[in-house]
Amino acid sequence: MSEEKIGTYITFHKIRLYTEYLQYFNLTSIEFNKLTLIYYNIILKHQELLENAIYVTRTKIEKLTMVDKQTGKVPEEYFETKAPSRIRRSACTQAIAQAKAYITKVKNAKENKKRGPNLAKKFNLPIQLTKELYAYIDNKKMKIKLYNGKEWKWYECTISKWNIPKDANLLSPKIEINKKIVMLVIPEKRIVENLTTIKERMENNTNIRICGLAFSGRNNIATCVIVDKSGKFIKSRFINEGDKYKNTIIKYLRQIQRSNCKSNRNSSVTGANRKYWKKISKNSNYYCNLVSRKIVDFCKECNAEIIALSNVQCDEEIVTYGTRFNSANLRNRITDYTKIKSFTENILVTFVDMKGKTNKCYKCNEFIERNIENKTIKAIKEDKAVCESGHMIDYFFNFAMNIALNCLKKYD
Ligand SMILES: [Zn+2]
Repeated sequence: MSEEKIGTYITFHKIRLYTEYLQYFNLTSIEFNKLTLIYYNIILKHQELLENAIYVTRTKIEKLTMVDKQTGKVPEEYFETKAPSRIRRSACTQAIAQAKAYITKVKNAKENKKRGPNLAKKFNLPIQLTKELYAYIDNKKMKIKLYNGKEWKWYECTISKWNIPKDANLLSPKIEINKKIVMLVIPEKRIVENLTTIKERMENNTNIRICGLAFSGRNNIATCVIVDKSGKFIKSRFINEGDKYKNTIIKYLRQIQRSNCKSNRNSSVTGANRKYWKKISKNSNYYCNLVSRKIVDFCKECNAEIIALSNVQCDEEIVTYGTRFNSANLRNRITDYTKIKSFTENILVTFVDMKGKTNKCYKCNEFIERNIENKTIKAIKEDKAVCESGHMIDYFFNFAMNIALNCLKKYD
């Protein structure tokens, strides 16, 4: 057995804050960014400070900017501010990162003999909170230290929803303000155990299960087929969200068409139809998320550790449903989302070369034909395909099965 590997990654939770103190959030943001800019300029003047570890750099900058409590000595870079030391420290940390980025850019520009970057004149960074600047009262409320124009005080706000797991390893949150919306962005550190490669998994785990995944433009937008290491079929799932997706899109396309007729204009992404295009994009995203979630959940349910995908589209995917808002067009995005979601569940995604193998019967390896002359109405309706030996199978089930079996062969 190979050694177990452990990896970490950061995921972000975005939670909306409801507050009557929006004005104070804005003032705090201005104050925080002003401070960051002051520190940024000081650091760039004293670049030798960056050679230390970050906390040492920060302490040295504090000494450079704050009056010594014992001696009362006013240091070289002293500036006046009412900000609490935690806000100062947080702004300083941001400034160090910004200054480092600037220095790297200057260095790169010099090496490539290009024009260097401009010095920042203003920042618009999210407010980085440290432990002493916020507190969760419960899952519905939190308090934050804010600047109200005169002083720094604690204010309470309501949290929109809290669906973060109890044992989550949360890091310091940030406050993002977008017009009137205040968002709390909380990073969570997660650990993924057993980061073995697919090859290692195949070699070491005799009970491994593989999920072959095929996309289509029909109602069954994705077909999942689980096989074990010997290639035995375990379970399948058809994810039927294609029609709902199509109907939603058609609804908005009709509204766009109507609005075009009224205004006698061509459909354009700008102007009156913008909201419909936005809705189309939002819906596409929603269905990609939903389908990928269902795929990964099914794999979890069946203990499948590997998801296998074809590197080519099968003929039926393209030919039969070749329209712009075909659900088959979501395949790339669904694939990306599946990759992200499966990673957090410790499931690996792999691509299998299916060139020239998309139309073979998984049982006998003969060619299958979907548009056969003697096909029954029932067969067409159910997307049945028939091979030359007479096996009647679901076209996409067959394709997913073939992907899973070819994945097994690849690592044999
Ligand atoms: Zn066959």
